[in-house]
Amino acid sequence: MTGREVQLVTYPRGEVRPSDFRVVEVEVREPGPGEVLVRNTWTSVDAALRLRLRDKAPAGYFAAFPLEAPMDGIFTVGEIVESRADGFEPGDTVWHAAGWRDYAVVEAGMPALGGVATLTKLDLEVAPAQAYLGVLGGNGLTAYAGLFRIAALREGDVVWVSAAAGAVGSLVGQMAKIRGHRVIGSAGSDEKVAYLLGELGLDDAFNYRSGPLPELLRAAAPDGIDVYFDNVGGGHLEAALDALRDSGRVAVCGTISEYDADDPPPGPRNLFMVVAKNLTIRGFRGSSNVDLLPEMTREVGAWLREGRLRYRETIVEGLEHAPEALAGLMRGDNTGKMLVRI
Ligand code: NAP
Repeated sequence: MTGREVQLVTYPRGEVRPSDFRVVEVEVREPGPGEVLVRNTWTSVDAALRLRLRDKAPAGYFAAFPLEAPMDGIFTVGEIVESRADGFEPGDTVWHAAGWRDYAVVEAGMPALGGVATLTKLDLEVAPAQAYLGVLGGNGLTAYAGLFRIAALREGDVVWVSAAAGAVGSLVGQMAKIRGHRVIGSAGSDEKVAYLLGELGLDDAFNYRSGPLPELLRAAAPDGIDVYFDNVGGGHLEAALDALRDSGRVAVCGTISEYDADDPPPGPRNLFMVVAKNLTIRGFRGSSNVDLLPEMTREVGAWLREGRLRYRETIVEGLEHAPEALAGLMRGDNTGKMLVRI
């Protein structure tokens, strides 16, 4: 049997281009003992993939993608067509990490993506399969761990989340609202701001492209903020350090404003604010908090059932368009989770 897979042919300089990739038809081998054959149905498109489209990924992070080879380590869901692993049957819907291809042979129990994407059967009564790539998957875990463990939200905290209309950000804003906080979101278009204020019910929101960031943030939070959930880095982090109140916290989830740069600019010019205001800046990976996955699944599952948490998807049709979907995500084309339907 054969199937298609997307491979990287050249490391992008600056913006990702679909021509940096190719789609090839490859042999799909039979599953061996302890393995399953999965027909992938949806595959994830994540900002963090951009960090791996270079010959060396950031030290300590997930590995760089080799050229002209399968892109391993991308969250994906699909249906088992053949199983030689105990506990898995043909017809089961599962998640795993062999994405951006039609078929995958996956070893049961082999840890993937820090344990978040190890082959697992999904409960479709809670949500449709693709939700496990977003709200009930790594994005849900990242939002949940970042807010409740890393930023350690306290009663009365005022929260600012950047890239607030994206996959992680849209969950962060809503989770903080559910816990009773005042939440400010920022995003890159007026349509996204309307989504944050309307559908997501945030208290205030602004388009970061519409004026000087420090002024926009000051207008939304005249008395300052206590927590900044950082998806963007750069000037956004600098604005947050000025706006944070004494003992404020920053959960650094990502720095997407720097991912396309070969040589990102030096860090915030106002780092002394960390000293002056007793601030804590703490980076984290969702996958390093995999112990919270059962708790997150329970809580988020209940919020979904009760209609208290919503999620949007931006769907790109066809495996061959996965590279274009990633380029689109980097440009801000997506609202909510960027997905490819295979
Ligand atoms: P996403 O938010 O769904 O999509 C990325 C969004 O970033 C775009 O839609 C765009 O929206 C915004 N953006 C792009 N360039 C920007 C810039 N220069 N300045 C400001 N905003 C920009 O993507 P995601 O996968 O959920 O990732 C969001 C962040 O979380 C990334 O930093 C990612 O690395 C991080 N992340 C971290 C972990 C972890 O374990 N720590 C896990 C998942 C994701 P606008 O239209 O608003 O510009």
